[in-house]
Amino acid sequence: MPAKNLNDLVALCKRRGFIYQGSEIYGGLQGLYDYGPYGVEMMKNIRDAWWRSMVYNRDDVEGIEAALLSARAMWKYSGHEGGFSDPLVECKKCKLRMRLDKMKDQSKCDSCGTTDITEPRDYQLMMGLSLGATTDGEINAYLRPETATTTYTNFKNVLDSVPHKLPFGIVQIGKAFRNEISPRGFVFRMREFEQAELQYFVRPGEDEAQFENWKNLRMDWWVNELGMPREKLRFAPHEKMAHYAKAAEDIEYEFPDGFDEVEGIHNRQDFDLASHTKAQDEFKIQANVIKNTDSNTKLSYSDAQTGENFLPFVIETAMGVNRAMMAVMMQAYTDEDLGGPPSPDGSGAASGKSRIVLKLKPSLSPVKAAVIPLARNVPELVEISNSIVSDLRKLGLGRIELENSGNIGKNYRRHDEIGTPVCITVDHQTMEDNTVTLRHRDSMEQVRVAIADIPAQLQKIVNG
Ligand code: ATP
Repeated sequence: MPAKNLNDLVALCKRRGFIYQGSEIYGGLQGLYDYGPYGVEMMKNIRDAWWRSMVYNRDDVEGIEAALLSARAMWKYSGHEGGFSDPLVECKKCKLRMRLDKMKDQSKCDSCGTTDITEPRDYQLMMGLSLGATTDGEINAYLRPETATTTYTNFKNVLDSVPHKLPFGIVQIGKAFRNEISPRGFVFRMREFEQAELQYFVRPGEDEAQFENWKNLRMDWWVNELGMPREKLRFAPHEKMAHYAKAAEDIEYEFPDGFDEVEGIHNRQDFDLASHTKAQDEFKIQANVIKNTDSNTKLSYSDAQTGENFLPFVIETAMGVNRAMMAVMMQAYTDEDLGGPPSPDGSGAASGKSRIVLKLKPSLSPVKAAVIPLARNVPELVEISNSIVSDLRKLGLGRIELENSGNIGKNYRRHDEIGTPVCITVDHQTMEDNTVTLRHRDSMEQVRVAIADIPAQLQKIVNG
């Protein structure tokens, strides 16, 4: 049985060190979360899988990492300062503030149900700052609300230092900040989160085919790299398009309470390079942009063969890394009935007749293998275990744990819950014949394997 509701997942995340409430010991701060020992590993694995497919496995994409803080002018010309807002309404009775387009019923308060609510007003989502000692509190910089804009403003830098012919792309993975009106759904909607975004620059006219191409590539990635079942994902075209977009579709995952966005794919035409370029008048701009009087750089592309100088179109793929991790965990969470009579106190897990297991794709698992000496007080067993751990660490697959505490049942249960694909148990027989027990997470099958064969087997399990 997969996770029935979000509470199952939130409890597991806290109990097993994936995700904690931000500022928890001071009562918590809404929309902010801290990632624990296994959460950071899993986030890293998702980032790595994304970077591998976007950068390492292609010839036409470069990566950058821009500052999280950027000049106020950047966000003026990107259209965010004037237009990056959500419609806010407030309940006059219970004072709850809600985002109009996400309300259950736009005529009633989500909490107390009254119809006595205010007219909507625009609520700015960007977080402004006053950088330096001489500003007297005036906003002169913003924490970025997305990674895309700093990718466009570095377009010329990248092209000049690492030349490419169109089409080519630039990616970033990094933090984004949005002062969301109503953070909700655990890490689904946060005020500080991480995005993995591609901006792919194409010739005008080739944009529609590239949009379709990237839609398919991204859907395949969700299925093949994150191990998500295709039938739990769907494309959802935007009903209302953002001002810059010519086409926009989301990839949605079926959470327990319905389908919701996990990634967006957008045809942004020439909006971005046109917004930030110097000498806008020299180009035939198709999108509707603000007149730019501050940029000192032309963000155009010169075709060496035709001598043409123009502003490429952009296809963007924008994924939330935290949201991807949440969807993957939701899908992997399995409350498994192991048969037998129910526990007397009614708590399945305590009876030993059921288990919670995270059936993650092994490449995403926070711990790749746990090595468990069956008796902690037998130095030879501990020594052999340590030597296996050290051999497995040399493979560079990720975290390998030596389990030198608690009993074997507890160890299996803990590793099932954090999704460790295999546990390797070292027992007295090991001292006689150099074999160990390898327990597979999903089938719980236990097989006797020669120590010498473990590295190759683990490599196969993790990398497929
Ligand atoms: P929404 O309409 O839900 O506010 P969006 O369409 O503005 O989101 P994008 O700007 O396209 O979202 O961001 C790309 C991705 O970043 C989203 O698909 C989502 O996975 C992630 N994301 C956006 N906002 C948040 C947030 N507040 N918390 C966590 N992840 C987010």
